[in-house]
Amino acid sequence: MKKFIKTLAWLLVLGLIGGGIYVFKILPTQVDAGMNVVLDHKPYKISDEAKELHASMRAADLHADTLLWKRNPAKRYTYGQTDLPRFREGNVALQVFSTVTYVPGNMNTDANKMENDQMTLLTQVQAWPPRTWNSIFERAIFQAERLHKVERFSGGDFIIAKTKSDLRDAMAKRANNHDIMVGVLATEGAHPLEGDIANLDKLYDAGFRMIGLQHFFDNKLGGSLHGVSKSGLTPFGKEVVTKIVNKGMMIDVAHSSIKTVEDVLAFTDAPMVVSHTGILSLCDHPKRNIPDRLMQQIADRGGLIGVGYWETAVCDTTPEGIAKMLIHGAKTFGVDHIALGSDFDGSVTTELDTSELAAITDALLRQGMLESNIRKVMGENQIAYFLKHLPGD
Ligand SMILES: [Zn+2]
Repeated sequence: MKKFIKTLAWLLVLGLIGGGIYVFKILPTQVDAGMNVVLDHKPYKISDEAKELHASMRAADLHADTLLWKRNPAKRYTYGQTDLPRFREGNVALQVFSTVTYVPGNMNTDANKMENDQMTLLTQVQAWPPRTWNSIFERAIFQAERLHKVERFSGGDFIIAKTKSDLRDAMAKRANNHDIMVGVLATEGAHPLEGDIANLDKLYDAGFRMIGLQHFFDNKLGGSLHGVSKSGLTPFGKEVVTKIVNKGMMIDVAHSSIKTVEDVLAFTDAPMVVSHTGILSLCDHPKRNIPDRLMQQIADRGGLIGVGYWETAVCDTTPEGIAKMLIHGAKTFGVDHIALGSDFDGSVTTELDTSELAAITDALLRQGMLESNIRKVMGENQIAYFLKHLPGD
């Protein structure tokens, strides 16, 4: 009997260890690899001209959710769409790292409520600290801390830009060393404020410089494009927008409802970005892409439109299709207002990862875009935007 109990106890221990390994090691990898898919494809053929042009440019991207996943951003992985080694292979000089902090159950592009949060389980399975389990604010702070850790251990090769001079200095260093890369921190939705405007100061202090107003559901600031109400900016939303501008932070209206975008445009003169989107006149997905007339107003006041790589943004997800959308954007809204906004690692399926960015340069060249304009849409517009709109001197 004693032996039987001993065997049973051992089996239980082994079962717990096995279960633990599955839940905390294998499951997060499976979820990550299953959500951030790069479709199988042959290596892209890049002309020598495109290779040379791409290697000599400063690429930049307005939106990636790298920090959401258990991967160490400093190491190279065989799944997911980004990490520092792959950013460098793609010659990315500047990347905006956004922080997803709440994921409603049964997420869709039509009408989500802020309920049945899927992120609680993700924070637990990925062994995030308990303070993040029930606090949306702490989830944003934790992801910012993760990026700061990457910066601390980078030996100076990775720099989080919080001011104009941070970015200027980093770009000056990068002229002689293409391993230098800059990150800017952003929120995907302003719900990490948890309804308290004082938390904006804390987000600023944690390094955040761009605030997305909404994600997939209506929040206290106003309606989401994929929310239930389709409503506009609330009085609290106006208070937050004012404070974002006063603190020298930047506004992102990707995912905001049409009414919210209209209200923000009417309420402030500040330029804004649509960090990851498609353009409706070329890709007719009105549940994901806001009307061209709003994009035009955003461009007219000096804003940026970041073109995404997934189906509802760009319709044709090949490098050819992405190039077509970039050229369409440049023709429609002006070449100075178009940028890359991949949404890499944002639970999207793409046909390239960030190491393969030269394929877009190649397609742009083949489709006849001028070299000087390719440099703009691939990164220079975005770098100029941050040099102008980050706080400080
Ligand atoms: Zn998004």
